[in-house]
Amino acid sequence: MRRKLAAGNWKMNGLKADLAEVAALTAAHPAPGTDILLCPPATLIAPMVAAAQGSALAVGGQDCHAAAAGAHTGDVSAPMLADAGATHVILGHSERRQDHDEHNEHVRAKANAALAAGLVCVICVGESEAERDAANTLDIIGGQLSGSIPDGVTGHSLVVAYEPIWAIGTGRTPTLDQIGEVHDFIRMRLERRFGPGIGRSTRLLYGGSVKPANAAEIFAVSNVDGALVGGASLKASDFSAIITALEAAPTQG
Ligand code: PEP
Repeated sequence: MRRKLAAGNWKMNGLKADLAEVAALTAAHPAPGTDILLCPPATLIAPMVAAAQGSALAVGGQDCHAAAAGAHTGDVSAPMLADAGATHVILGHSERRQDHDEHNEHVRAKANAALAAGLVCVICVGESEAERDAANTLDIIGGQLSGSIPDGVTGHSLVVAYEPIWAIGTGRTPTLDQIGEVHDFIRMRLERRFGPGIGRSTRLLYGGSVKPANAAEIFAVSNVDGALVGGASLKASDFSAIITALEAAPTQG
C-alpha cells in the first residue's frame, strides 16, 4: 500500500509571519492519515522546520543545484537543503523549466545531487496546452520521465508529480479520465523501467489547481496517491481541507 502524500508548494510566497499557517496546520492534523509536506522558499526552510518540530509535517526545498557547493551565486545545493532540515526537494517544476530553461538532463543531474544528500525527489512532469491539443501528451510525459529520473531512485526516494502546465494556477483542470490516463501511463512506465517493486511503490501526485472543492474527486482517480498543491497550500484552512479529503480517499496500490 502506498501512503498518500499531500505536498504544498509555496513558490515565491511567504514571510516569517506566514509560519502562523504552519502552526494552524499542524494543530489541525496532530496524527494525519497521510504524509504532509510543505515546500517554502529557501529563506523559510529552517524556520519552518523549527515551527514543525514535534509534528508530522515534513519540509522540502523547491529546487537545488546539481553541484554540492561552489561558485554558483544565488543557488542552493542539496546538502544545504538537508542541513537546513529539509527532507524533500521539488525538481523540474514547469516554472523552473520555463523561467530557468531547465531541461530533462538538468533535472536528472539535480535529482542525482538530491539523492546523494539523502533527499526525496519530487520530480514534476507535464504537458503544455499546445502539446495536449496536438495529442502529444503521453509522448511528452514519457520523454520527461526517461530524461529527468535518474537510475538510482527507490520507491521511497522518488515521487512523481503530474502537473499539466495549463492547469497550474489557472483554475482549470483536466477531466478525471485525462488525469487517470496519464497516471496509469506513468505507473506503467515506472514499472517497465524499474520493475514492479519500485514501479508500484512510487507515489504519483496530481498537481494543477487542486482546491478543497475538487480534491475528493481527483483523489478517487486510479493511481493518484496525493497532490502537489500551489495556491491552496498557502492557507492552512484550504490545505487542511485537501488533506482531509486525501485521508478519506480510497487506498491505492
Ligand atoms: C504548482 O505550482 O505546483 C501548482 C500545482 O499550483 P496550483 O495548485 O496553484 O495550480
